[in-house]
Amino acid sequence: MLQLTKDDIINYLKNDELTDELFKMARETRKRIFGDKIFLYGFVYFSTWCRNNCSFCYYRRDNDIERYRKSKEEVLDIADRLVASGVNLIDLTMGEDAQYHAEDFETAVSIIREIKKQGVPVMVSPGVVGKKVIDRFAEAGADFYALYQETYNRELFKKLRIAQDFDERLECKKYAKQKGLLIEDGILVGIGENEEDIAEALLQMGNIGASQVRAMSFVPQDGTPMEEFKTPKRDMEFKIIALMRLLYPKVLIPASLDVDGILGLEKRVDAGANVVTSIIPPKTGLMGVAQGTMDVDEGGRTFKEATAILEKMGLRAATKEEYKSYIGGLK
Ligand code: SF4
Repeated sequence: MLQLTKDDIINYLKNDELTDELFKMARETRKRIFGDKIFLYGFVYFSTWCRNNCSFCYYRRDNDIERYRKSKEEVLDIADRLVASGVNLIDLTMGEDAQYHAEDFETAVSIIREIKKQGVPVMVSPGVVGKKVIDRFAEAGADFYALYQETYNRELFKKLRIAQDFDERLECKKYAKQKGLLIEDGILVGIGENEEDIAEALLQMGNIGASQVRAMSFVPQDGTPMEEFKTPKRDMEFKIIALMRLLYPKVLIPASLDVDGILGLEKRVDAGANVVTSIIPPKTGLMGVAQGTMDVDEGGRTFKEATAILEKMGLRAATKEEYKSYIGGLK
């Protein structure tokens, strides 16, 4: 493994002339560990209700938007369609929906159990929850708990995740890991951070033992305090993906379709990503996170579209068994 210090990371982030070399090393590292396999995740954003007010998020409490909460039957039906299409994992994502907290996540736990009965790996992204809820997710067989810090700069965190506790969020992940769940962490790019903040975040995500790490460029959302912010050039996100691959060769790194749609896939994979996330079936009324509707109903964010691009790149979708075997080795 290439040993990168914080200064090395900052140097790569600041110097564009090193970028081609960086991407090449990242691709070679991915090839050494994963061969030509890429994993694909189905995304079910099943409730867009949220009690929080994150300044970057379209679904923040104070934004006056249409929201939905899918029923258990709808979620299972969408998950079935995704599994039939070929995805390796179902990512069950929700805002911090007060109704789910009030019912102690009964419905979410039963959804996890149903999907796991079919032998399909599940990721839960429910926001911050209590230890007892994490225990129940673990008992129900969830494989991954995703919770994004978005920044490891505490001052910036206060501005982004308004009135939320940095340490509570971090502790949730550590507890989930202790209970045997794999954890995903991630950062947003272009939200006022500097290179040192990014380097610090990359090292911290390694320290907590995240098995999946993601970087996503910020996309301004209507009706939010950050709607006038500019979306950053994508180079920084791609460099971060490559650095994550070099720092942690075996981790799973998403190329999210949620930032630039299907057209953004190739560059992220070229930078060293090995998971396609945010595959959403068309015509289900489901939303993405950063790009609520981009390519969704047009059928652009499907397994078929994504695999066609991967195949042109000399890569292939991993089988269900290959994915299960890989994450089994991470536990
Ligand atoms: S980022 Fe998550 S927790 Fe924050 S407002 Fe949006 S849905 Fe809620």
